[in-house]
Amino acid sequence: MDDLATYAENTWCPGCGNFGILNAFKKAVRRLETDDVSRQDIVITAGIGCHAKIFDYLRLSGFYSLHGRALATAQGMKLANPRVKVVAFVGDGDAYGEGVAHLVFAAKRNADITVIVHNNGTYGLTTGQYTPTSVKGFRGPSTPGGSVEEPFNPLSLVLAAGATFVARGYPLKLDHLADLFARAIQHEGFSIVDVLQPCVSFNNTYELYNRLATEMDSVPASWEDSMAAARRTDRLLIGVFRDVAQKPFHEESLGSRVPAQTRAGYSQRMKAVRRSLV
Ligand code: SF4
Repeated sequence: MDDLATYAENTWCPGCGNFGILNAFKKAVRRLETDDVSRQDIVITAGIGCHAKIFDYLRLSGFYSLHGRALATAQGMKLANPRVKVVAFVGDGDAYGEGVAHLVFAAKRNADITVIVHNNGTYGLTTGQYTPTSVKGFRGPSTPGGSVEEPFNPLSLVLAAGATFVARGYPLKLDHLADLFARAIQHEGFSIVDVLQPCVSFNNTYELYNRLATEMDSVPASWEDSMAAARRTDRLLIGVFRDVAQKPFHEESLGSRVPAQTRAGYSQRMKAVRRSLV
C-alpha cells in the first residue's frame, strides 16, 4: 500500500516528467524517515500549474498557494514554526517568471525552505506558452513565430543571489533525484532542486535530456566552479552544484523562538482587533 498517496485521481498526461518527480519525492520522504525525520514534520506548498497537482497527490500537511507566491507562503510557514521542514513545489513559469522576486530574496536571506522546480520550459496547464526557460525559437500559442528571447539560466541566478544549496536533477534518474530531494530537505538554509522535467504534450525534451544529462562526481570546490558547471551547455550536469553552511534567516531573526507555540489565543486576538478599531 502507498501510504503517501491520496484519494485524488491523477490527471497528468501519460509519460509526463511529473510522475518521476512525485515518485522520487515519496522515496525521499521514506528515506528521511529512516534518518528520524517524521513525515508529520514535512509541510508542503505549491503554486499553480501542472506541477501544483502534486499537492493533491501527496498525503502530507500543507497549504495550497497562488501563482508565483508559493515561496512567500513557504517562508511564512517556516517563520511561524521553524521546527518543520517546508517544501515548495513550483513550475518554471511560477518560480522564474511571476515569482522571481520571491525566489531571489529567499535565496539572498537564506530562508530555510526547499524549492523544487518542475522546469519543463513551458506553461503546460494553459497549453504551452513560452516561459523564462523556453529555448529561443520555442513555438507556442503566445509565440507562433518562435520565441525571440534567449532563456536564462536559473542555477546561475540563484548562485548569484547567494543560495547555499543548489542542485539539478532528472526524473529518469529517479534514485539520484530522490537523493537530491532528501539532501535539499536536510540542508539548513535555502535549498533548490531544479528538475529537468519533460512535458510530453508541449515540450518533449526526453531525447535531448537522455543525451545530455550527466551526473557530477562531486560538488564543485568553489562558487566560481559551481557557476561554470551550471553554465555548461555541451552537457547538462545533474547533481549538487553548491552546498555550504550559513545561519538561516529564521535563526538570525527569531533566535530560538517558535511563534506557533506562543501565538495569542482567540480572546487576545479579538482584543487586539478591537484596540486597532478605536
Ligand atoms: Fe505534464 Fe505537460 Fe501534460 Fe502538464 S501538459 S501534465 S506538464 S505533459
